[in-house]
Amino acid sequence: MSWETKNYSILLVEDNKLNQTVVKFTLKRYGYNIDVANNGIEAVEMYKEGTYDFILMDVMMPEMDGLEATKIIRDQEEGDERIPIIALTADIMVANEEKCLENGMDAHLSKPFDVDHLFKVLTELDL
Ligand SMILES: [Mg+2]
Repeated sequence: MSWETKNYSILLVEDNKLNQTVVKFTLKRYGYNIDVANNGIEAVEMYKEGTYDFILMDVMMPEMDGLEATKIIRDQEEGDERIPIIALTADIMVANEEKCLENGMDAHLSKPFDVDHLFKVLTELDL
């Protein structure tokens, strides 16, 4: 599959500026549109305003964390709407991944961000 031919619009939710830059830099090389939310509150607002193919959601954030933001987004979805939410976490514990899935996220990526891992997850999610 050629990932350059995809036309993803992505909401990146991440409080760390360096991580924001790394993910944006990596994904813009593929021509994707990336919007950035700095915390869960901004993520919920931007989800409401925008149309995204999926969300990359950091879990640990000030103001509102990724688990709570995911819960609010899921509560706002109507009918069979379900935006894919991929968790980003700094730790690779299986328990952490299970917690993300239990809280309404669809997949999990560990940091540092690895684009090949993202593409594997997108394939699994049929995106
Ligand atoms: Mg964070």
